[in-house]
Amino acid sequence: MMHRIAVVGSGPAGLTFARVMHRHGHPVTVLERDPAPDSRPPGGTLDLHEGLGQLALDKAGLLAEFQALSRPEGQAMRILDADGTVLRDWRPRPDDRANPEIDRGQLRDLLLGPLDVQWGRGVTRVVPRGREGVRVHFEDGRQETFDLVVGADGAWSRIRPAVSPVTPHYTGVTLVETTLDDVDARHPDLARLIGDGSMAVYGVNRALVAQRNSGGHVRVYAQFRAPLDRHTNLDPADAEAVRSSLLALFDGWAAPVLDLLRHGTAFVRRPLYALPVSHTWTHVAGVTLLGDAAHLMPPLGAGANLAMLEGAELAESIANGSGELDGAVRAFEEKMWARAGRWAEITTAGLERLVSPDPAEALALFDQVQPS
Ligand SMILES: Cc1cc2nc3c(=O)[nH]c(=O)nc-3n(C[C@H](O)[C@H](O)[C@H](O)COP(=O)(O)OP(=O)(O)OC[C@H]3O[C@@H](n4cnc5c(N)ncnc54)[C@H](O)[C@@H]3O)c2cc1C
Repeated sequence: MMHRIAVVGSGPAGLTFARVMHRHGHPVTVLERDPAPDSRPPGGTLDLHEGLGQLALDKAGLLAEFQALSRPEGQAMRILDADGTVLRDWRPRPDDRANPEIDRGQLRDLLLGPLDVQWGRGVTRVVPRGREGVRVHFEDGRQETFDLVVGADGAWSRIRPAVSPVTPHYTGVTLVETTLDDVDARHPDLARLIGDGSMAVYGVNRALVAQRNSGGHVRVYAQFRAPLDRHTNLDPADAEAVRSSLLALFDGWAAPVLDLLRHGTAFVRRPLYALPVSHTWTHVAGVTLLGDAAHLMPPLGAGANLAMLEGAELAESIANGSGELDGAVRAFEEKMWARAGRWAEITTAGLERLVSPDPAEALALFDQVQPS
């Protein structure tokens, strides 16, 4: 019997779930609030790990296409001192496929493939109604009923309240993101400084990280410990005011490093929020969560990877199960909670060390995780 299944959100979690279900011949309704795939910038580059995001793409039958699109050279990582001295310079071997980078827009298009997403369908809440299924309420006032609703709608999930009262808390760290375009032609010195992958400088309770995306596009993240209300008086559209405030915050750092901020084109403020480590809930028939909706954690390279693997595993659990939907979802949830809890601990401890009073902690963390 075909169940009526909806996934809310077309991020990495929701699309991977729908795509693996599609591969197994099970149609899924994908409900997305954005009016169109390109209605907002897709965000920066993602490194997909062999045993996580790449495994999920394998389950979706998309690994070869990913390998053709991704940038293994993007695994390069350089760490500078605030005075510009290069402290570490890791470069991947030519055959290293452990964590290649891919632009989020490319990943989204790869996953979308044949899927028929319902764009512009923001969900406001879901109400489980026992044997009658789960009622989905939309922003436009309409309602629909499904046997299973999968909440893959990110940090501020509208599905989460149906299973858990918990909401994300501020981690104490804020990012301000800016971008540089056509960096090789327009800022060749910065292009050389950044290299093929990422470059980072760690100071006292602050850091500057630059990541190369495809097409000469670079994203720069200024990161600092600050109360949540710091900078809220600055109009984010006033790029010069935000730039001045950041240059003051990083005052004294080497001129080429500060050029990353001087040449940034627009600034977006992103306070980092997280759910409690080991967030679980009492199982609710007909509703589950994936990805950031289930376990929002500091952005240290795991979130999208976990989201994708969970999407693939839930799909396989349903498709390969005996047809008893609830048992398949329960089994999946147990597995997700155990793995996500481990990663939440790692990334929470990692953020403490990367944006810390002692910059040597950040270097020590990289020395532990980078291949020698
Ligand atoms: C600066 C930064 C860098 C990061 N770098 C990495 C990295 O290198 N590697 C990595 O693995 N992770 C990284 N992450 C984390 C990663 O971005 C997230 O963990 C990942 O996007 C989570 O995927 P998701 O599908 O669960 O949620 P999302 O990507 O947030 O997708 C949620 C989707 O749901 C839609 N939606 C939201 N509300 C509704 C609603 N009410 N109704 C309908 N649709 C809705 C949204 O529009 C969106 O399309 C980074 C995060 C940040 C902030």
